[in-house]
Amino acid sequence: MKRRGLLVLVIALLLAAAIVKVMQRGDDGYGAAEGLIQEIALRSSGEKLLASEEQLYEGDLLLVNGEYPIHPESEAPDVVELSGRPELTGGAVLLDHDIRLSRGVALKFAVMAEAAAQEGVNRFMISSGYRDRAEQSRLYKEKGADYALPAGYSEHNMGLALDIGSTRGRMADAEEGKWLEQNAARYGFVLRYPADKTDVTGISFEPWHFRYVGLPHSLIMKRSNLALEEYVELLRDKKAVSTTVDGRSYEIRYYDSGEIPQLRVPEGREYALSGDNKGGLILTLYP
Ligand SMILES: [Zn+2]
Repeated sequence: MKRRGLLVLVIALLLAAAIVKVMQRGDDGYGAAEGLIQEIALRSSGEKLLASEEQLYEGDLLLVNGEYPIHPESEAPDVVELSGRPELTGGAVLLDHDIRLSRGVALKFAVMAEAAAQEGVNRFMISSGYRDRAEQSRLYKEKGADYALPAGYSEHNMGLALDIGSTRGRMADAEEGKWLEQNAARYGFVLRYPADKTDVTGISFEPWHFRYVGLPHSLIMKRSNLALEEYVELLRDKKAVSTTVDGRSYEIRYYDSGEIPQLRVPEGREYALSGDNKGGLILTLYP
């Protein structure tokens, strides 16, 4: 009887240990899967979407670099001045009073800056935002090809990128730079020109230049260490992927321009469309 009692106790202990182990593995598994992609089949059921040619040159995922200039029809739609509008700057100071940015991107930046301030990182300075073609031309002439891109080839000409500094000092050393490098992806932003991607981007390390691409794309890029050039290529290759952020599942589908007539959105699903500026269209289905 005693031996049986002992046996039951040993089995119970083993079971308890196994359950704890499974729970731990569950936690780890979830953490590791966060923001990583899973390949899925490209489905075409649901509501038909009338995507137009212009949509190929609009959206948060446009790739603009030395090889792919901004399409002449692509215009920054909601550019506003940031000065005197604290709801758009989240406590950051402005280097110039005439700095402009996409309003949608500025609102996201403000949320991010406020989150950083909660952790005591609150000395942000926005040093550049949207630049129109004339400003970009002037900068290119003044600074030269080593420091600026010609008009139409800079992300600043879209309103989706901004240069963020710190009033504490150089961004590469300041708390603000370190915090952004770690956390910006949670808020839809990516460090566009990292030190280890200069061969891909063709641009040297810029710890201040952040580009808005939106969730879940920013997290996938961060977790998989992909530059925008590589990410767009990955989507083109995989066609359809899914990913989980905060336990919620996103789906991303890629269409070549010829496949756009097949584009469908499941009924009732929130979505975003963006061109990739290379003739493809990316559909993001929100949770
Ligand atoms: Zn910049």
